[in-house]
Formats: sequence, C-alpha cells, structure tokens
Amino acid sequence: MSIPEIFGCDVFNESVMEHRLPKDVYKSLKKTIEEGKHLDLSLANAIATEMKNWAVEKGATHYTHWFQPMTGITAEKHDGFISPSGDGHVIMEFSGKELIKGETDASSFPSGGLRATFEARGYTAWDPTSYAFIKNNILCIPTAFCSYSGEALDKRTPLLRSMEAINKSALRVLKILGSDATHVTPNIGAEQEYFLIDRHMYSQRKDLIYTSRSLFGAKPPKTQELDDHYFGTIKTRVAAYMEDLDRQLWKLGVLAKTKHNEVAPCQHELAPIYSVANVATDHNQLTMELMKRTARRHGFKCLLTEKPFAHVNGSGKHINWSLSTNTGVNLLNPGKTPAENAQFLLFLAAVIKGVNKYQDLLRVCVASANNDHRLGASEAPPSIISIFLGDELTAILDSIVKGEEYHAHGKQTMEVGVDILPNFAKDTTDRNRTSPFAFTGNKFEFRSPGSKLSVAGPTTFINTIVADVLDEFADELEGAEDLKSALNKLIKKTIEENSRIIFNGDGYSPEWVEEAKRRGLANYPSTPDALPHFADEKNVELFARHNVYSETEIRSRIEILFDEYIKTIKIEARTMLDMANKDIFPAVSSYVRDLATTAKVAGECGVVAEYELETVKKLNSLTTQMYKAYQQLCDIVKPLEAPITGCESTARYCRDSVIPAMKALRAPADEIETLVGRKYWPYPTYGELLFYV
Ligand code: ADP
Ligand code: MG
Repeated sequence: MSIPEIFGCDVFNESVMEHRLPKDVYKSLKKTIEEGKHLDLSLANAIATEMKNWAVEKGATHYTHWFQPMTGITAEKHDGFISPSGDGHVIMEFSGKELIKGETDASSFPSGGLRATFEARGYTAWDPTSYAFIKNNILCIPTAFCSYSGEALDKRTPLLRSMEAINKSALRVLKILGSDATHVTPNIGAEQEYFLIDRHMYSQRKDLIYTSRSLFGAKPPKTQELDDHYFGTIKTRVAAYMEDLDRQLWKLGVLAKTKHNEVAPCQHELAPIYSVANVATDHNQLTMELMKRTARRHGFKCLLTEKPFAHVNGSGKHINWSLSTNTGVNLLNPGKTPAENAQFLLFLAAVIKGVNKYQDLLRVCVASANNDHRLGASEAPPSIISIFLGDELTAILDSIVKGEEYHAHGKQTMEVGVDILPNFAKDTTDRNRTSPFAFTGNKFEFRSPGSKLSVAGPTTFINTIVADVLDEFADELEGAEDLKSALNKLIKKTIEENSRIIFNGDGYSPEWVEEAKRRGLANYPSTPDALPHFADEKNVELFARHNVYSETEIRSRIEILFDEYIKTIKIEARTMLDMANKDIFPAVSSYVRDLATTAKVAGECGVVAEYELETVKKLNSLTTQMYKAYQQLCDIVKPLEAPITGCESTARYCRDSVIPAMKALRAPADEIETLVGRKYWPYPTYGELLFYV
C-alpha cells in the first residue's frame, strides 16, 4: 500500500465518519464537537454501532477507554465486544453508553489523596475531539479520567480545560482587534529524543532494567567529542527500526515527519508535524509507546529516560507551541500589514509577560528526578527560565519601547499598528540552543521538558499562563477610545516591564547564573526546590481563575510528583547497592585473586610481577573506599524503607543525602572498572553499550 493509503487507516477519523455515519448523525456530532457540548445518548448509540462495525471489520475484538493517569503514561483496560446471543453463540456489541462513559476501578493509580481507596472507582469520558483508533486489535477511545466528585485524575482533563481558557481569552482580544475568528487553538509539535541500545547488552545491566538509567559506568575512550553522530548517516539496523516505526505511526494518523541522529552516540530524534494540542499529546504518547514496542522487534531497547548515560547528552522533548485561529491565522506569525503586526506584537507581549510572571511554573512543570540531571548540565537549558527572541526582534522591541529609530533595515521609527515590522531573518532566531524558551520565527520552543514527560503538563501551563495575560490585555483594551494608541501603550509598557526575562546570550555560562540573580529571576536547580511553588498563592489563584486546576487538584499533583521523585531515587539507590554487592565486589575480588596468584608464582620464579602487585594495591585501596561508600549508602537508604511521612522533607533528604552518597559510591566503582580485566567485569561497558550496536 502507498503511504497515503496507509496513513490513518487505523483511525476512525473525519473521512471515515463522514463516509460511514448517517448524514444527520455526522452533522450532529460535528456540531457537538464544535460547540464543546456533551453527546446525547441516542447520538452516541448511533456512533458506537458504526464505530464497532468499522473496528470489527478491521479485526478488533475489544475496546478500551484509553486514558492518561497522573503517572504520565497511558492506561487501558480491555473489554470484549462479545455479548451472549442466547443460543450459545455471541454477537459483537458496543453501546453508546459504553462509548461515552466507562467506569474503572483505578485504586492503584496515584491520586495524591484525591480519591479515598474506599471509593476507588473513577470514570472515564470520551474526548470526541480526539479520534478513536485501533491498536493491537483493540479499539482505543481517547478519554478523560475523573473522580466521581469531578476532580481530574488525569492529564487530559486539565489540558482540555486550559485549551478552553486560552480559546476564550484569545477570542476576547481578537474581537477587540476586529477579527472574525470564532475559535482559537494551541498547536503543539513535540520533538522526541530517545536512545536505542542493543537489547542483549541491556539485559545484562540491572541499572538499566530497574531504573532505565545507568548508575555505574566509566567514561569510554570516545564519547560525543567528534560531533560525528549528530545528523550522521543512520545505521542500517536503526534505519530499519525507524522505517517500521514510521509506518506504524502513520497507520495511527501520527504525522511522523523528521528523523535523525542526535548528539550522543545511539541517540535519535523523531519530530511530527504539529497538530492541535490534545491530539499532539495523544500522538506523542502513542509515539513513545510504539518506540518501545518496535524496539523489541528489532533487538533494541528504547530508552526514554532523560539521562540514561553520564558523559554524553541526555534526551529532551522540545515542545513547539503556537496559537492559531479557525480562520487560518497563526497569531505568532509576524504579519505583513500594520494590523497583523500589531496583533503579533500583542500576542508576543502576552507570552513574554506570562513567562516572566510565572517563570516558576515553567520550571515546576518539567521537574522530575531524572530531568534534574539534564537541566543546567551544559547540554540542556539551565533551570533558570528565560526567553530568547534573537537580536533583531529584541532590537525592534527596544526601538518600540524607546520610541527610537530602528536601524538595521533602513531608518525607521516603529509605531505599533501604524508601521510594518521590518522583515527580520527567521533563521537568526534559531541559532541559540541554550535557551529554555525560544521564539523560533512563528512559534515558541520550550526546551526544558525531559524526553519522558507527557506533553500535557507543560502545554496546560503555557496555555493558562498566556490566557491569563490575554484576559488582562482584554480588560485594558476593551474600553479604549483610541485603540491604536492604547495598543501602542500596552505593548510598550508590557515589554518594558518584563524585559528582564529576555536573554539572548549563552544560557550555559556561569555568568548567566549571576546575571539572572541580579535580574531577580527564579533559579530552582532541583525538583524539591521547584515543586512547592506550584501551590504558591499567585499560582493557585491563576489556575482557579481559569478553572484548570482546583487547589485540591494542585496539592494532589504535588504529592504525586514528590512521591515519584522519592521512589525513583530510592529504587536507584537500592539498585546500586545490589550491583555493588552482588556483582562489582565479587568481580574485583576474583580479579585481585588472579593477580595475586600470578604475582606469587612470579615471585617463586624469582621475578617481580610489578603490574600485578601495583594493580592489586591500587584496587585494594579503591575497593576499601568503595566499601565504605557502600556501607554509608546502606545506612542512608534505611530511613526511606519506612513509610513516607513528609513528602517534601523526604524529597530534600533524597537530594541532600541519598544522591551525594550514590555519587560517592559510583566514583571509586567507575575507577575500578578502568583497572579490572575485561572478562572479569560483570556488565557491558559504556563503550560497548554506546558504540557496539
Ligand atoms: P528543530 O529541530 O530545528 O527545532 P524540527 O523540524 O525538528 O526543528 O521540529 C520543529 C517542530 O516544530 C516540528 O514538530 C514542527 O511541526 C513544529 N512546528 C512548526 N511550526 C509550528 C507551529 N506554528 N506551531 C507549533 N509547532 C510548530
Ligand atoms: Mg529537531
């Protein structure tokens, strides 16, 4: 089959619906979706029947309400279509009720105290703006997941709420500007980085198996210093994997577009063409799932963790964000007329102000134990949030603020709503890769999220932050007598008051940390520093104002994130102890025995075995150091084995005591690795993992 034939063939999409649903049903469904209303049951029944017929024709046997609990992965429980027909046979059935709402015993999903275990059931509700699809013979219905009292237990519900918020606020502003748009949607393009390593080697390392991250490993002779992997030729075996993955994604309607090798050896990236935020979120979840599943078939293991290997780059997920209207306008596209320019500058100013005012939240939404290893390690943006606009756009904004001439493209004084923006070269905006939040021509690229993170969280936050500022703008502009001068004033004032967030320099440099401090920007290097700010009064108020998260929902999320942070570190520490005790110490011991035996035999022959004797001494000293660190880590982990009481203080304990003790154990172990004979070492080394694929 050709690619256009394959594309979306497993999706109950617009054209399938139009083709298969009775005309009036299709029309009513479209209207319900456009107006954001609930489906009524008779309509749902008609859709369910046709959806089931379509799915059964394609070999599906079960259906599932596919949802995204707060763990960030997707969850599904499969129910068969079969129903007894009374004569010992079965028929395939699926009702409207089953389509729009499901119940699920979800007591094992984290709820952060939102749902007591005695009322463990939650319900799932179809999100008809995201198409149903077939995966592994299961009809998957994208759904939201809530408690019976209506609290969101998932990532989709707040995302949908935030999309509604920004739709409303952006429309208020657009109306003032005279636009005839009736709907505004945030668009997301999520670039996904990942590692592919050989499955056989993977299965020999407990750290990768238990934590998806290597906890020991000496620096190999070569890492990424030659830059020969980035955009390099893709190895045949990897190319076959990518081709297989693309095909599966296309069948599910995912617009997988760009694939290339990334900076680190064994690291790759897949970028789809952007789409509406909730669909892009679903598609990214599917992409991650299929990346893992396809890897197995090709003898690989796909690692989506943020920092699987020391000494080489970790993996991120760049989230490209823009806003567009149903009239086909990208609101972040600098236009060609004074009116379009004014609109662009206003939305740009809204993002600048939002990011400045809520910089803490942008750090909060990317916080996790593993992403902490990436941020600020000169391979990913620092933990300080700032905006990159590029020198030209910054100069234009400066000239607007100062009312001075803008020189680069002929002398020009910029007056918002009157003049046309000079045509600044777009590619100059994309050079600086050290910025967490970069304007890249007609969208913003948020580069702090880690590779494993769901797109939903950061997108929900950005939508809400910008919606809030747009509301403030609308309040200010609504009564204005002279719109042009009000606009001019508002944009000037906003840029002026929020300019500290704009930084075009090197985000990796130590000078920036100092400069950011002088500017009063927040710097939360670790998850325990960042997370509590989610519940700061201004943030609780922000999310409440836009009905995105209630205070209870915020507190539950903080608890879940802390819990995950603590458990991640606890499992890592335990894994290190296990590896040290069961594998590394015995390996050194047997190597030392062989060296000592050789030295002894050599002595009996009347020669001095210098290498053997020296190495035994060196190893003995390092092993003693390692053993002390081992005992110390044992003691430090102990309190974590008791039930956790204070999440926040335990998380700080992990950061301040457990992580340093893990580092202290790793250092001598990695040095020992460089001294021990190859066949004695219990695991594939970094060199083997990263280069022998
Ligand atoms: P780079 O690696 O140079 O940042 P990529 O081509 O890998 O660029 O990824 C850019 C991503 O941004 C793609 O997913 C693309 O679809 C997305 N994108 C492009 N235009 C927009 C837009 N207006 N809104 C949101 N995302 C966009
Ligand atoms: Mg890219």
